[in-house]
Amino acid sequence: MSTQCVKCEEGKAIILVGTNGSFCKECFLKYFTHKFRAALGKHPVVRYDDKVAVAFSGGLNSSAMLHVLLESLSPLSFKRLKFHPGIIFVDETVLLPEEKNYEIYLNEIESIMKASGLPYHIVKLEKILSISDDTVIENNDDTAQTCNLRELFDSIKSITSKQELLYRLRCKLLTYKAKELGYQHIFLGETSSRLAINILSNIAQGQGAHLSLDTGFTDNGRYLGINLLRPLRDIGAKEIAVYTNINKIQSVFLPNFSTKVPATSSIQRLTEDFIVSLTSDFPATETTVYRTSNKLEMMKNSKKEENKDTNENCFLCCGPLDTQIKEGNASALQAIEFTENLSNGIFGTAENPHLPHDLKSTSKLPQSDSGDDYCETQEKTMVNLCHSCKILHKDVNTEVNFDPIFEHLFKNSSKVTNEEMRKQLEDVLLDC
Ligand SMILES: [Zn+2]
Ligand SMILES: [Zn+2]
Repeated sequence: MSTQCVKCEEGKAIILVGTNGSFCKECFLKYFTHKFRAALGKHPVVRYDDKVAVAFSGGLNSSAMLHVLLESLSPLSFKRLKFHPGIIFVDETVLLPEEKNYEIYLNEIESIMKASGLPYHIVKLEKILSISDDTVIENNDDTAQTCNLRELFDSIKSITSKQELLYRLRCKLLTYKAKELGYQHIFLGETSSRLAINILSNIAQGQGAHLSLDTGFTDNGRYLGINLLRPLRDIGAKEIAVYTNINKIQSVFLPNFSTKVPATSSIQRLTEDFIVSLTSDFPATETTVYRTSNKLEMMKNSKKEENKDTNENCFLCCGPLDTQIKEGNASALQAIEFTENLSNGIFGTAENPHLPHDLKSTSKLPQSDSGDDYCETQEKTMVNLCHSCKILHKDVNTEVNFDPIFEHLFKNSSKVTNEEMRKQLEDVLLDC
C-alpha cells in the first residue's frame, strides 16, 4: 500500500480501497459518503418527501448506515437528502431463550436508536403470527405466538433452513410494520461482501431465479409494495470497519443460532468461510462474484419476455413462482421432481406420461393418503411455494402439524398486481 493518498496527494494513506488506490482519512470519508449517495442517485427509487425506515440490527453495517444517513440529512450537508427517515428494529429474543445477556444488548440498541433523534420502532419477531388485515396487532398476549414460533424453529432440521426462514420472516415483518407506519421504503445494511456471500449461498439453495430481488439494489416492492433497498451494496466490509472505527460508531453484536457453530453447519456459514478465506489471498474475490451476478442478471432480463405469463408469486418469499415451466421446456427442476416422484412411487397418468410440470398437476395424481385433510393442506401450501421455499418446507419435521402456522405465515403478501393497480386507478384513468 502506498503511504500517500492518491486523491489529495498530501494526506497519509490509511486504507486501500479496491482498485481505487490508497486514501487518507478525509478522502476516505468523502469517498464513503459519495458511495452511499451515488447508490441512491443511480437508482432513483426514493422520492422527495418519502418516508424511509432503516432496518437496524445494532450490528456494524446498520450502525454505519444510520451514521452516514444522519450526516447526509444534516442541514450542513452539501446537497442534503430530503426524505423522512425512521428506524425499525426486529427483536429476535424469542429464538434464543437461554441467552442471559439479551436484555443488556436490547437496552444498548434502544439507547443507540434514541440517541439518533429519529422516530424508532421495536417489533418482536413472534408478532409475525399476530398479523391480521396486513396490520401487526399489538397489546395482545404473545405467549401462544412465542411458543408456536419457537416450536417451529426447533422442528427445522438444518441450520441452513432456519437461517433462511428467519431472513424471510424478518423481511416480511419489517414490511408489515413499515406499511402500518406509513413508510414506503426500507434500507437494508447489506454490503458488497455480504451480498457476494448471499449470491453464492442463494444459488446453492436453488434461489437463482430470485437473485436480482435478493441481491439487487431494490426488490421491486415484492412484499406489500414496500421497497427493500440496499444502499450499501457498493461498499465492502473492510470499508465499513474503517468507517465505524474513524467515527467511533457504537454497535452491538446480537448472537443467534448461527453464532459459534462450525463453518460446516450451514450453507450460509460455509459460503461465508469460503469467501472470507479466498478474499484474504485474492482481494478481488467479492467484486468478481458480485459483478458476475450482475452480468447473469442482465442476461436473464433480456430473456424476461419468455416468462412474461408467470404472474403468480411464492407465498413465503414473494418472488415469482419458478415452478411454472412451460410445456416442452426441459429444466433441472423437472428432473428433480421426476426423481422425487419416482422414489415416492408416484407415476404419470395416460394424459401426462412424463409427470407433472408443476405441483398443481400432482393433485390429479394418485395420493397415498387421498382424502386426508392434512395431506391436502400440505399440498395446497406446496403448490404456492417456489422451488427453494419448497426445500425449506420439506425440512420441517412432519411429525408435528405446523400447517395452521404455515398458512398464516404464507399469507400472500406479494406486491399489488397490474390488474389490481388498474382497478384502483380506473376512476382516474381516461377511457381510450
Ligand atoms: Zn487524501
Ligand atoms: Zn419462495
